[in-house]
Amino acid sequence: MPYTIEGSTGPWELVIGLEVHAQVVSNAKLFSGAATAFGAEPNSQVSFVDAGFPGMLPVINRECVAQAVRTGLGLNAKVNLWSRFDRKNYFYADLPQGYQISQYAHPIIGEGEVEIALSDGTTKTIGITRLHLEQDAGKSLHDQHPTKSFIDLNRSGVALMEIVSEPDMRSPEEAGAYLAKLRQILRYLGTCDGNMEEGSMRADVNVSVRKPGEGYRTRCEVKNVNSIRFVMQAVEAEARRQIEVWESGGTVEQETRLFDTARGVTRSMRSKEDAHDYRYFPDPDLPPLVIEQSWVDQLKAALPELPDQRRARYMRDYGLPAYDAHVLTLEKETAAYFEAVAKGRDAKQAANWVMGDLFAAINRTKTSIAEPPVSAADLGALLDLMADGTLSGKLAKEVFEVMAETGRAPGVIVEERGLRQVTDTGAIEAVIEEVLAKNADKVAEYRSGKEKLFGFFVGQAMKAMQGKGNPALVNEVLKKKLG
Ligand code: ADP
Ligand code: MG
Repeated sequence: MPYTIEGSTGPWELVIGLEVHAQVVSNAKLFSGAATAFGAEPNSQVSFVDAGFPGMLPVINRECVAQAVRTGLGLNAKVNLWSRFDRKNYFYADLPQGYQISQYAHPIIGEGEVEIALSDGTTKTIGITRLHLEQDAGKSLHDQHPTKSFIDLNRSGVALMEIVSEPDMRSPEEAGAYLAKLRQILRYLGTCDGNMEEGSMRADVNVSVRKPGEGYRTRCEVKNVNSIRFVMQAVEAEARRQIEVWESGGTVEQETRLFDTARGVTRSMRSKEDAHDYRYFPDPDLPPLVIEQSWVDQLKAALPELPDQRRARYMRDYGLPAYDAHVLTLEKETAAYFEAVAKGRDAKQAANWVMGDLFAAINRTKTSIAEPPVSAADLGALLDLMADGTLSGKLAKEVFEVMAETGRAPGVIVEERGLRQVTDTGAIEAVIEEVLAKNADKVAEYRSGKEKLFGFFVGQAMKAMQGKGNPALVNEVLKKKLG
């Protein structure tokens, strides 16, 4: 069943296309050698090129081009060996050149596709229209002084990839899943860090509504949405607004809007400019960008394993269920951690500990998988202590809590706290004999057929050993003594 929103005139379908700006991971800017680190002192990473000084000439950064090609390959897209930079002219205080160098008519990457997984278990392919390279602008700061605005040009000239999707999404969930998947692929590739809070990735969300069976109606573009949750909310809010406009006899005008995250509504920002307003023309300072197929092949051969491949491998080689494989590959740091724990051990057990105890400990200690409270080596050592019978499952959980709190190795904690499991049959027999002697009445009941009492004896024996008795041995000895 397609997703619809019910209006007074019946159901409406949603049509959504995303334009995602992703900051390229590179040490230097797209056309200058200035640094790109986040959080630097304002205007400390600005060359004359980035400041738009007359006569300065841009020089393309080869690594930024490589990053765009890697991204294109990761999106199963066509790599254009010949592309071109165009000037997009507009005036803004934080754009000192008076134009942005972008790729308009001839982008470096053409059509591709991304597969998304939906909560009903189905998958869907979203088309990529294109990916092009362009410069970022600087940043205006309006909250530093009562009567003045400041400009920080650190971001001016930083390389961005604009990734444009086809209008293939039909619900807020699909839009959210697409952005999440895109971010995951870029992070795996190492071409964008995907930190939406730091502005490394932001989305322009194009939304229109239509009656089932109709062609596309006019869309509006909600600018600069900076989280997956806000993208989903913006889609819903904008669709509802448009439905109301159509149903009250009005017409949706194509325009650029902003999402007010506090109030959950979109607001008009400006009417949409058309391409001709920007007076695009080929940048005369830059020759066309020509790359060799052999270089593209080299980059392709060196691509890391991508999320879909990794997920499939986890199901095939580790025998994990689809859900586990999905969760463990969401972040490549989680996947690497899991693989280190699973190496030479029971993969399903490793998966359970990572997704259960480790994730809980990360939440509780407000850390992250990149800097986990328990290292993969220590968690592996803990699993080994269970495998060799030193720790029961229950004791292992206790030890893990102490590991997460103190960061110490499991072996040390076991010795220090005397948590070693009792596996000495003689000691277990002694305890059990005592338990049976104290509960002679229950023993008689058991022997006359009340077999449910077996659990009671196990409980008493374990209690007498402070939970440290080896469960299998306790069961075995009890059966022998009672039988
Ligand atoms: P522009 O260059 O003016 O922004 P594009 O044709 O490049 O226009 O489209 C921009 C985005 O809008 C794309 O992501 C596309 O999928 C989306 N889009 C186009 N038509 C519609 C529509 N009718 N409804 C929703 N999204 C649309
Ligand atoms: Mg556009």
